[in-house]
Amino acid sequence: MLKRFLLLRGAEIIVLMALASVPLMVNNTYALGLLTLLAIYGILLIGLDVTVGYLGQVNLAQAAFLGLGAYAAGLSATMLGYGMMASLSISMLVGLVLGGLLAFPALRLDGPQFALATLSFSALSTTVLNEWEGLTSGAQGLSLSRPTWLGLSMDAQGFYWLCLLMLALVWMLMRNLLASQWGRAFEALRDSPIATDAMGVGTYRHKVAGFALGSSLGALAGGLYAFNFQYLQPQSFTYDLMVILLLGVVLGGRKSLWGAFFGACLIVLLPNLLSNKLLFELISAAGLLLAVVSGVRAWKSKSTQHFQILAPIVAMGILVVGGFMVENTENWRKAIFALMLFSVVVGLPDGVMGYIAKLLTRILRVPPADIAAAVSLDTVLPKRESDGQTLLELNDLQRYFGGVKAVDGISLKVRAGQVHGLIGPNGSGKSTAVNVISGLYAPSGGEIRLQGKRLPSGSLLKVARVGVARTFQNLQLFGELSALDNVMVALKGVYRTPLPLLLLGLARAEEQRAQGEALALLELVGLKAQARMAAKDLTYGSQRFLEIARALARKPALLILDEPAAGLAHPDVQVLITLIKTIHERGITIILIEHHMDVVSELCDVVTVLDGGKVIAEGVPDEVKRDAKVIKAYLGVVQDDAPSDAVDRKEAPAC
Ligand code: ADP
Ligand code: MG
Repeated sequence: MLKRFLLLRGAEIIVLMALASVPLMVNNTYALGLLTLLAIYGILLIGLDVTVGYLGQVNLAQAAFLGLGAYAAGLSATMLGYGMMASLSISMLVGLVLGGLLAFPALRLDGPQFALATLSFSALSTTVLNEWEGLTSGAQGLSLSRPTWLGLSMDAQGFYWLCLLMLALVWMLMRNLLASQWGRAFEALRDSPIATDAMGVGTYRHKVAGFALGSSLGALAGGLYAFNFQYLQPQSFTYDLMVILLLGVVLGGRKSLWGAFFGACLIVLLPNLLSNKLLFELISAAGLLLAVVSGVRAWKSKSTQHFQILAPIVAMGILVVGGFMVENTENWRKAIFALMLFSVVVGLPDGVMGYIAKLLTRILRVPPADIAAAVSLDTVLPKRESDGQTLLELNDLQRYFGGVKAVDGISLKVRAGQVHGLIGPNGSGKSTAVNVISGLYAPSGGEIRLQGKRLPSGSLLKVARVGVARTFQNLQLFGELSALDNVMVALKGVYRTPLPLLLLGLARAEEQRAQGEALALLELVGLKAQARMAAKDLTYGSQRFLEIARALARKPALLILDEPAAGLAHPDVQVLITLIKTIHERGITIILIEHHMDVVSELCDVVTVLDGGKVIAEGVPDEVKRDAKVIKAYLGVVQDDAPSDAVDRKEAPAC
């Protein structure tokens, strides 16, 4: 643990110290200018990485926020006479407010629509900066002088140190934030917004907060940019820059502060890289070497498709050969960008720093982060005494999809402490019924009551918050998060540290507790050893169990399991049965949708049978199995001599 800490923090401190000491060793104005830009772009890309990397949205507005921040600071200093810190604070505030405002409508949109919304915002803001000549002097440009900081006037060197200090601060605060529940929530909503809401985390709130935060860092970088160049023009903040910024994040590596830093180095060095032929040849040769080395490794491990190995080598090869043939590399700028971007997107999905970090972790044998010891299950899921009263009540519940009456007037009562089976042939409305209960769909009619109170309708988040947890028939895990993080993100009643303390890294005790609880739940479902594995790399069966552990992290009063046995191998079904019994013993009420009648018979106290969106039978499993209507629904015909285990033997395919 100490080794890990020293290596990770050591690397940060060494790079920071090295950067800070450059002006003491070399007296070169040009180099100082580049380093200042490096610090500024570092902050800008850390902000952009929140939306692009963590939230997984294509954000084309970051260059606009750089511009808006730059003008906000510049105008505060020139027109209002504010000092450095006040002007920079105004920048951040402008980014935060405008970012939040843009996010509100834009984040209801997804994918390409979101990208278009941010693109429109960019166009709008550059037009305003251009046309509002009274304020910004338009295309003529705005000249300003660098304000004082704490009464001190700043020369280029002092300003560089200030930028570096800002980068270090942003780095530290963001490291703490992204390692906390906030970072997990950002990633969770990228992988499954539905499950994020269903786990009580709140997709929308976190999306808006993430976007506002990323934008305010962009605007802070803008403020520093303004005081660095002391001259602003709206056309500096247009699409060309935006493309380069995206290139920086993707090349450097998403979801990584080092990736953002590397991306910033690249952006700052690009003009030099292109104008200095020798440097270009060296770097493209290094790129080719990297492509070949990583290709050979991928080849050996047989984990990657041939295309993914060959394409970057070919692209980098073209770059090397092209470097010798072309007279002026600057004219080929866009082609060079394209080749670099293509190689990284195809060959190194985690970016250059992601790749290097993995390599170094292996070479230096960096131990994985420690996980706190599991707490006892009684602490996480204390036994509930159930009074056997009605916990959930559906009255004439309906849900129509166009003409399809998926749920057509279901009334039923689920008693506290019971395992209530919901069975019926495929398409009989089981999933729709629980989707309406859990708030994924609003009901078309009828009402749902939990402990006598009306359940919020049509909101996964609100329903989750009153104590209903669920799993999904089609898995909805947070694929890129580890198994442990999947459970931790859903944990209820643990995260209480206020944001300012959390930013300062003072949430360690809370994180430890969360890890201990999450690990106890992973142990319960038999996945303790896989705690560090990404959910997407688990076997299908393990993924099903992980969803149950994650739902239990909500410490729910009512747990809804939608076909948990679907696709499980026979031994796993036995494990599942034992697990559900254990959960039941803890006093958690369960609604179990299940096709396998043997599982239902073994586990359920009561069974409700649906067909065509209506309840056709209800009772203890053995009675229900013999019911003629049930046998007909399952087999499609009424057979007078149908054996009583007819339903047992009919296993409808899971959808
Ligand atoms: P079950 O879970 O019992 O197999 P479902 O609740 O998934 O059944 O489906 C019941 C009916 O509702 C089916 O006819 C299905 O096609 C329809 N249905 C379910 N979800 C939707 C939806 N989102 N849009 C349109 N029709 C749907
Ligand atoms: Mg279903």
